[in-house]
Amino acid sequence: MTDRPVVLVLNAGSSSLKYQLVEPGSGERIATGIVERIGSDDASARHEQAGETVESHGAVADHKDALHTALDLFAQAGTDLRSTDLVAVGHRVVHGGRRFSEPVVLDDEAVAAIDDLSSLAPLHNPVNLAGVRAMREILPEVPQVAVFDTAFFHDLPAHAATYAIDDEIARRYDIRRYGFHGTSHEFVSAAAADFLGRPASEVNLVVLHLGNGASASAVRGGRAVDTSMGLTPLEGLVMGTRSGDLDPAIVAYLERVADMDVDAVDTMLNKNAGLKGLCGENDFRTITAWIEEGDERARLAYDVYIHRLRRYIGAYMVDLGRVDAIVFTAGVGENAATVRADALAGLEGFGIRVDPDANAIRSHDARRISPDDAPVAVLVVPTDEELAIARKALELVRAG
Ligand code: AMP
Repeated sequence: MTDRPVVLVLNAGSSSLKYQLVEPGSGERIATGIVERIGSDDASARHEQAGETVESHGAVADHKDALHTALDLFAQAGTDLRSTDLVAVGHRVVHGGRRFSEPVVLDDEAVAAIDDLSSLAPLHNPVNLAGVRAMREILPEVPQVAVFDTAFFHDLPAHAATYAIDDEIARRYDIRRYGFHGTSHEFVSAAAADFLGRPASEVNLVVLHLGNGASASAVRGGRAVDTSMGLTPLEGLVMGTRSGDLDPAIVAYLERVADMDVDAVDTMLNKNAGLKGLCGENDFRTITAWIEEGDERARLAYDVYIHRLRRYIGAYMVDLGRVDAIVFTAGVGENAATVRADALAGLEGFGIRVDPDANAIRSHDARRISPDDAPVAVLVVPTDEELAIARKALELVRAG
């Protein structure tokens, strides 16, 4: 293996493909790019490398075509991927089911097993696999590694992983709480322990990954003991376009009274619910601006979001018993100071305080936003799922 191995990290979505060329050792981003509107005649691609941006526009038929586009952009930026020290391609794969609790090198058998899990994650696993299949064809000599969003939660305690439904049906259909965003929760937990200068095995954390998708987890001594997402990423917090928790009877009710079929309800809850369902917008920047203009729907959407978030914080404090830090991460968690302040307002009696000045500081670094003498630290810790995937992929190919 070379001195400075690099890993290409791929995150394939339904109509987009994001990629980063990462040097896992230093964390340096050699290049980043995105191909959007895959499957259309007016797809676009943007690639950034060494301070330069190259773009392309035109038809991109499928994920394989998208990868060829990315390779072309690498070439235009002066890099032939095949002549770099590329030691692995790391793929973000959403659902590992019961089978995958660790990253895996993608051979035919692993690909087939991930395919088998598609019924659990129909919106994610098939498109993740489209990226895997395309890359295996284009760079067959480079090991491909899947890193699963569910892996960090594979050993949730049974009482946290189990739904209170007929256990025979649950077993037959693999219904349990799997949890998602695990790569981020794991990375951020380790970084938070580092920041506190304590071994991960000694700290208890409530981790709040608040992005367009959002999830909370309770982490005791480096291991997740509870998390808000479940069988799918729909459960839990209010998200950009997903409802999070609701009374499951709503689904049957809509099918009975609103003449909506299963797919229509599924689409509504995943794509047209959450903040977007409540006020027509899922970007927090716009929602905040609307609230300032006096928009009542935006206000209610925000209040519902915060109420749910506080509920989970409370639940996980009780789960953990002792909390060393509450950690905010991802797009909203890292940037929206008002969300952080409102999520923790009035909790002084629990040792939780947010320092308004520290909270107002914008930074890309991990930071403490609670006063130094507060019993519970409140931290903002930027997540970096791509770096985490690159490191896991490198570790696995080195071990092999
Ligand atoms: P992520 O899924 O982690 O990329 O987060 C994306 C979300 O972060 C966006 O939809 C925005 O709602 C939110 N976001 C990004 N930047 C800001 C910001 N400066 N202030 C508030 N929210 C932000």
